[in-house]
Amino acid sequence: MNKEKKLEKLNKEMLSCEKCALREGCKQVVPGEGSVNARIVFIGEGPGKKEDESGKPFVGAAGKFLDEMLEIIKLKREDVYIANVVKCRPPQNRDPLPEEKDICWLWLEKQIKLIVPDLIVTLGRHSLEKFFPKQKISEVHGKALRRDFPEFGKQTFYVLYHPAAALYNGSMRDVLIEDFKRIPKVLDLIKKQSDKKESFIKESIVNENNQEKLL
Ligand code: URA
Repeated sequence: MNKEKKLEKLNKEMLSCEKCALREGCKQVVPGEGSVNARIVFIGEGPGKKEDESGKPFVGAAGKFLDEMLEIIKLKREDVYIANVVKCRPPQNRDPLPEEKDICWLWLEKQIKLIVPDLIVTLGRHSLEKFFPKQKISEVHGKALRRDFPEFGKQTFYVLYHPAAALYNGSMRDVLIEDFKRIPKVLDLIKKQSDKKESFIKESIVNENNQEKLL
């Protein structure tokens, strides 16, 4: 089965998921959207009202802002993959609970294993926490981090503020745009390293728990 078919199959499985109570309170599951061959996967928190209605991730105001930033770096939604930590809208857009995030990890793990992105861009605190529970977004936004996961091996991440949090906050908005513009540079760095087949960034700083700060 090719990757496209595998993604279709995975999406169907997600659509029929009833593993947690979130499914009872939402209109539909929002599995994710984009290319199965994407080099970058963006991971947000969870669907909001517009996403719950359309079945697509990041289609509301935050999504429009995300599209604008993608355009700045000359990418379209179809070039990347966009997903969320939880696939069902939490009631009244409340924060997803730890157990909901844990249950939904099953799907995120499968998505990452199938797509095998060069870079995962975390959007906001919940997405960062899922992969780097000890890091603070105010300290690591605009930085690349690397970690070894039992589920899918070594993976590079780039940390961003959530577009919804930055949308109406002038200074955070500027920071997010500047951080976003550095994504191509991070991708180049990853490519150069894999071309050279060197061990990953010699000058990287190992900070805690197997996590390495790259930039
Ligand atoms: N916010 C998110 O985190 N994800 C979406 O899909 C939309 C808004």
